[in-house]
Amino acid sequence: MEDDFAQWYTDVVKKADLVDYSSVRGSMIIRPYGYAIWENIQSVLDRRIKETGHENVYMPLLIPQSLLQKEKDHIEGFAPEVALVTHGGSEELAEPLVVRPTSEVLFGEHYANIIHSYRDLPKLYNQWANVVRWEKTTRPFLRSLEFLWQEGHTCHATEEEAAEETRKMLEVYAEVVENYLAVPVLKGQKTEKEKFAGAKFTLTIESLMHDGKALQSGTSHHLGTGFAEAFGIQFTDKDGKLQTVNQTSWGITTRLIGALIMVHGDNRGLVVPPRIAPKQVMIVPIAQHKEGVLDKAYELKDQLSKVARVDIDASDKMPGWKFNEYEMKGIPVRLEIGPKDIEKGQVVLARRDTSEKIIVPINELETKIPALLEEIQNNLFEKAKKHREEKTSIAYNMDEFKTNLVENPGFIKAMWCGSEACENFIKEETAATSRCMPFEQEHLADKCVCCGEEAKHLVYWAKAY
Ligand SMILES: [Zn+2]
Repeated sequence: MEDDFAQWYTDVVKKADLVDYSSVRGSMIIRPYGYAIWENIQSVLDRRIKETGHENVYMPLLIPQSLLQKEKDHIEGFAPEVALVTHGGSEELAEPLVVRPTSEVLFGEHYANIIHSYRDLPKLYNQWANVVRWEKTTRPFLRSLEFLWQEGHTCHATEEEAAEETRKMLEVYAEVVENYLAVPVLKGQKTEKEKFAGAKFTLTIESLMHDGKALQSGTSHHLGTGFAEAFGIQFTDKDGKLQTVNQTSWGITTRLIGALIMVHGDNRGLVVPPRIAPKQVMIVPIAQHKEGVLDKAYELKDQLSKVARVDIDASDKMPGWKFNEYEMKGIPVRLEIGPKDIEKGQVVLARRDTSEKIIVPINELETKIPALLEEIQNNLFEKAKKHREEKTSIAYNMDEFKTNLVENPGFIKAMWCGSEACENFIKEETAATSRCMPFEQEHLADKCVCCGEEAKHLVYWAKAY
């Protein structure tokens, strides 16, 4: 991991059985273990999405090319990564179809059909789907031709209501990512250069990976009336006047699994936070051929399944092999039970996060295990937070900026004048990009780190995935 982080990442996704490669470049097969992690993220977030008043819908995969071209900024932003369907069977299509890179235009067309009056607002829809973006360089979970995500699309009567929705969903993302994935996030607004193509503004949560690179982990966009004007989404207000709706869109993707790997993983493999771990406890019987061991192990599995997601490996593989396997898969707790333990009425619990081993009386397990899982969850979050703090530095000029990036790669806090020229210059000189203008602004200096002109915002910069 310290020597070759990229190779370490590739090894972990393969060896922990998260993905396999398919015959199409940049497409990944998400294997059962990887998919179970996604399902757990999905189920928590889906509940939050519904609790905040949204409904799930499903839009088609294919979009007429002309529809995508209706919103000018949007098509410019997505054109380079669009996949086209030109034939249906052996017939060439009169108009090519785009495989959705995102569904703004489909929602736009649909909303124009179903929204007529202020009584139809707000419209709060979400869809769980796959999208396709023709990326040049790809990596499992982080950047692939096809990925899974959810995309929320909402319509509101006023600009302010849409702004409130944009902020609300960013908070939902931050809460889920911090409390379930144990990944600390930085909340803020993207610069004009980095915002979503066609948006009025974009809010983001940014997290920091083990190697000091940032990962955009969820975004929420205020679309203003841009798409609504292009698609004619209008409503009659209470005074009978025709108005255009304000829209939002927001999404998180399977990239979050990449974040999970790169924030918590170590040289023994994956580390999955208990709250989203498909299996929280793995029982490994020791000397299982001895009388009574397997019976007791299965009895414990049944008993503990009431308080945690428990599995057992009773295969004839050696315990040492099993230890390595479940450490590689990042299962939070291993429970060892052998003849001597049964005699003493105890088991051995091994924590994946600290490697600590604890002897626990069998009659205390039902309370001990949930408490231990919570402790591991909190420890992972605190560890990641501390790492982020250690890897966050301040720069007042470009020399400091460059030195920091080499000596302590991570987030760099620096003041910025607001010009795109400075952002471009920094990117060319250092490969770091502006990650966000944090909601919690600080006034570190009067001058822009790049040009020395008057500073307008504090920006977090980093090299990013
Ligand atoms: Zn500047």
